[in-house]
Amino acid sequence: PEAITVAELANRMAERVADVVKALMQSGIMATQNQSIDADTAELVIEEFGHRVTRVSDADVEDVIASVEDKEEDLLPRPPVITIMGHVDHGKTSLLDAIRQTSVTSGEAGGITQHIGAYQVTTKDGQVLSFLDTPGHAAFTSMRSRGAQVTDIVVLVVAADDAVMPQTVEAISHAKAANVPMIVAINKIDKPSANPTKVRTDLLQHEVIVEEMSGEVQDVEVSAQTGQGLDQLLEAIALQAEILELKANPNRAAEGAVIEAQLDVGRGPVATVLVQKGTLKQGDIFVVGEQYGKVRALINDKGERVKEAGPSVPVEVLGLNGTPEAGDVLNVTSTEAQAREIAEYRAHAAKEKRAAAGAATTLDQLLQKA
Ligand code: GDP
Ligand code: MG
Repeated sequence: PEAITVAELANRMAERVADVVKALMQSGIMATQNQSIDADTAELVIEEFGHRVTRVSDADVEDVIASVEDKEEDLLPRPPVITIMGHVDHGKTSLLDAIRQTSVTSGEAGGITQHIGAYQVTTKDGQVLSFLDTPGHAAFTSMRSRGAQVTDIVVLVVAADDAVMPQTVEAISHAKAANVPMIVAINKIDKPSANPTKVRTDLLQHEVIVEEMSGEVQDVEVSAQTGQGLDQLLEAIALQAEILELKANPNRAAEGAVIEAQLDVGRGPVATVLVQKGTLKQGDIFVVGEQYGKVRALINDKGERVKEAGPSVPVEVLGLNGTPEAGDVLNVTSTEAQAREIAEYRAHAAKEKRAAAGAATTLDQLLQKA
């Protein structure tokens, strides 16, 4: 959209409408809360409120809004979001399961992770950690290419009896490209054939120098089966999280990233959303990618209905008009008209982009034939 209402802008900046009207007035612009202002004016107002505008493209208000950053004084500590990555069968699900002390692996069809699970655990010291269990690395890549940075820390699981494998290398390059710190969990240490030294030397070849090798990447020997080393792994995560000083403003319109989404027979479109800023509440109106909706229910990782979800909390969101894609960003808006307008604008823009790409291919084909 090329314009935004004053009320919507205030909502997205987490400022009071009256204050935005006043700021506009001081700049010589008379506008009521329901009037629309253009992207340039919006940018002016945003900067006046002391928010930083880092990315502005064309006249799209969404881009201006997307770059609104919270003020330092509004930020509060938030739990770290940890993604478990590694080669298939190296024990990602088992490890997460052992951490949660429940049984997910046994319930999975064929022992293969069916979806991206997202769970919160509380450590003995009372620290809350949010975990994502990736089925493969495709979702992670697609999310990152859409600009959604969902994880703070990557736990790289490497089986001690198998060492570095192709998907281990892939995970390392994802973590490096995303500039996310890594912790190496050398799993299956209980096995007689375990060779943790081989894991460490293999990793050297991929420029991952663990602490045992005098490097800076934390490495922990663990066994998802016996529980050995799990406390040390959690300590390593807590230490890494402390260094990152993770913060978010819980008191603003929510923003989050879709971890997974599907059309559920009984419940309609359902999206698992990791809240990244603000607090998502029941009844909130939102736009998510090319879809929009109103939060009918929020369900936490334990299957319980909750009224709200703050930063770093994964929740299932019900009340969507369609199924969004993994990596889509969810934004709470103040009116349904606004949410629908943004969703339709995006759908239209995406359609035009596809048409343009299609036309280019046809032209290419024509030229090649000529
Ligand atoms: P994922 O594909 O990385 O999620 O791996 P899974 O968690 O599904 O584990 C693959 C297999 O390795 C399963 O049969 C697990 O029981 C087994 N496994 C996982 N962790 C350990 C461990 O620490 N020790 C042993 N001995 N087996 C493990
Ligand atoms: Mg798995």
